[in-house]
Amino acid sequence: MQKELQEQLFENYPLIFRNKDKPQSQSLLYCGLCVENGWYHLIDQLCGFLQFHHDHNGYPQAIASQVKQKFGVLRFYTKFEDGDRSDRPESYLLGAVHFAEHLSARICELCGAMGAETGLWAVKGYVTTLCLQCRKGQIFEDQPVNSNILKPPGGWKKKDRHLYEEYPLIFKDRSRPMTETCMCWGICTGEGWFDLIDQLCGWLQSQTDKNAYSQVVAEQVKEKFGELCFYVRYEGESEKDIEYLEGAIDFAGNFSGRICEQCGRPGTQTDTGGWIKTLCNECRGKK
Ligand SMILES: [Zn+2]
Ligand SMILES: [Zn+2]
Repeated sequence: MQKELQEQLFENYPLIFRNKDKPQSQSLLYCGLCVENGWYHLIDQLCGFLQFHHDHNGYPQAIASQVKQKFGVLRFYTKFEDGDRSDRPESYLLGAVHFAEHLSARICELCGAMGAETGLWAVKGYVTTLCLQCRKGQIFEDQPVNSNILKPPGGWKKKDRHLYEEYPLIFKDRSRPMTETCMCWGICTGEGWFDLIDQLCGWLQSQTDKNAYSQVVAEQVKEKFGELCFYVRYEGESEKDIEYLEGAIDFAGNFSGRICEQCGRPGTQTDTGGWIKTLCNECRGKK
């Protein structure tokens, strides 16, 4: 990562990156954040999330021990301090970290875009996360590592349906009558958040399937004040897994404030005549 961006993160989150100057024998942060610039907004938002919940909600303090890319995906290794003395469990923060890592597989490591064909690609034998545009700049042959990058074309309606088909348990309320559920309205956000929602559902369902965690059922999915609201209920018993899953859902909502709701590129929240919307410069210009 570019030195200026890295310095900005170190400066903004001194507690998380407190080991940055330790010698190699004591910390793997000595080489800095070993990822490209495209993940800056993801790491920035994740650190902000972790620090906020420590400062205001009694969660343990996260301390980064290594930040790098491995097989095209972000690895954000953290320890948690004062876990015993904290009111809230670290599993909530861990859910956010693990989901951020999972999400990075759909965020171009060079330019930060999510969207059409952004995903894991094998380029010259090694795996990397790139968008279509950044891949065009490469001169070598490449191929998708996972075919789910190639999303259904043709507007939000089809993508919307793709999510219901892919995650029938999460979206099971779709078949309930209109009077009983807000899910009858479908997913009420712009297309730019498709990857975020797709990755979130995929991550949640895989955790539940693998670990017999509570089943997440979506009750309403919409945009509010420029952020994704993913309202759910949990069908299950254990408090501990709910904290873990909730950490991921809350972080997805939080990170949506950095993704253009129209196109998926990095964006910022703007007041568009009384409405807060998250947009990139280009989409803002079109308004
Ligand atoms: Zn790119
Ligand atoms: Zn945009």
